[in-house]
Amino acid sequence: MKKPPIFQENSPPGKPHAEPRKEAHKEPLHEGRWWEPEAGGKVHCYLCPRHCHIGEEQAGFCFIRANEGGKLYSLGYAHPAALQVDPIEKKPLNHFLPGTRVFSMGTAGCNMGCFFCQNWDISKSRSDQVHSSFVPPEDVVLLAIRNGCPSIAFTYNEPTIWGEYVIDICAAAKEYGINTVMVSNGYITYEAFHDIYDHVDAANIDLKAFTENFYGRVTLTHLQPVLDTLQWLKNETNVWFEITNLMIPTLNDDPAETRRLAEWVLEHLGPDVPLHFTAFHPDFKLRDKPKTPPETLHAARAVAREVGLHYVYEGNIFSDAAHTSCPSCGAQLIRRSWLDVEQNHLKNGCCPQCGLAIPGRWTNPHGKTPRKVFERAHELASSKYDHLNL
Ligand code: SF4
Repeated sequence: MKKPPIFQENSPPGKPHAEPRKEAHKEPLHEGRWWEPEAGGKVHCYLCPRHCHIGEEQAGFCFIRANEGGKLYSLGYAHPAALQVDPIEKKPLNHFLPGTRVFSMGTAGCNMGCFFCQNWDISKSRSDQVHSSFVPPEDVVLLAIRNGCPSIAFTYNEPTIWGEYVIDICAAAKEYGINTVMVSNGYITYEAFHDIYDHVDAANIDLKAFTENFYGRVTLTHLQPVLDTLQWLKNETNVWFEITNLMIPTLNDDPAETRRLAEWVLEHLGPDVPLHFTAFHPDFKLRDKPKTPPETLHAARAVAREVGLHYVYEGNIFSDAAHTSCPSCGAQLIRRSWLDVEQNHLKNGCCPQCGLAIPGRWTNPHGKTPRKVFERAHELASSKYDHLNL
C-alpha cells in the first residue's frame, strides 16, 4: 500500500527535526481534553485505555500528549504531518460513497505499538520528528473542498490521540456539508468515545486479530477494548462502520481464529457489517514474515461467508473479492479494480435484480458544494497552502 507523503520542507521523513518542539511549532499549545491533574504535577490522560500518568515535561506513550507545567496539551492539534487525496476505497470503506475522493490526514504518534506498522515513519515519531504545517480546522475543510473531496478521513496514524483536532474539524465540516471518517484501531475509552464518534459519519476499525495473545505481544495493547468500541458503534451511534483484519502469516491467520472472529462479528454486530481481510507486507519490526499469500485471504473469506457474514472483501491484492455482490441473488452490484470503482449498478441503494436494500451510505446527503464556497476554498488553497502540492 502506498504510504502517505510526509511534509518535506527541510528534512526527510522520519529523521529527527533539529529544533525542539516549542520552536518547531510557533503557535500556542492547545490544551487537551480527557485528563485530570494528579499529585506531584503529574497528569492522568484517560483518552485511551493505556491511562498514562505523565510526569512534567514528559509525553504519554503516544508521544503527542504532553504534560507541560501540570497541564495536558495536544501536540498534534492543527499540525498534520501527512495530507493526501485518496479513494475512499483505500480506507477501506466499500459501502460509503463508493468511487469518491477523501481528503486524508494524519499527525505523528500512536497509542498502539504494532510491530508490523506500515506507517511507522509517522506513527513512531514524536511531533518534533516529523515535518508538519499549521492547518487550523476550517482550513482542512476548505482544502478538502478545493480538492473535490466530499469527505475528510482521519487516518495514517491513530486519530484518537488527536481527538481534539478531529472534533473541531468535524464541527467545521458539518457547516460546509463535508463528511468525516475515522480510520482507527478502536483503542479508546468510553469517557471519550461519544465525544468523538457522535460527530463522525463513518469509520473503519482495525480488528487486528482475535486473540489477547496477539494484541498483547504484537500490538502492546489488549483485545477487549477494541471489541467494546465495535459494540458501542453498533449499539450507540449512527456511524457507518466497516472492519479490517490485516492477516499476518503464522500470527493471526489460523482459520479457527478467523472463524471465531467472524462468529463474534455475526453475533454482536450482525451480518451486514463489511469485513475486509487485507494482505500484510513485511515492514518495521516484522520483516521476518512473508507477504500474505492470496490463498490465505481467499480461505479467510470463505470461512467468514460460511459463518454468515454478507459482505466480506479482500484487500491489498488484485481480487474478485473487491466487488460488492447481492447476498440474496448474487448479482454483481459494484465492480472494482484494486481501489477503482469501474461500475456501480445500485439503484437507490438497492439491488437492481432482486430489489434487496444494501446497507451503506450510497449518496452524499449534502449534495454539491455551492460555487461561492468552492471559490473561497480555491483562493485559500492558492494563497496559503500552495507548498503542500496536493
Ligand atoms: S491517548 Fe496517549 S497519552 Fe493518553 S492514555 Fe492513550 S497513549 Fe497515553
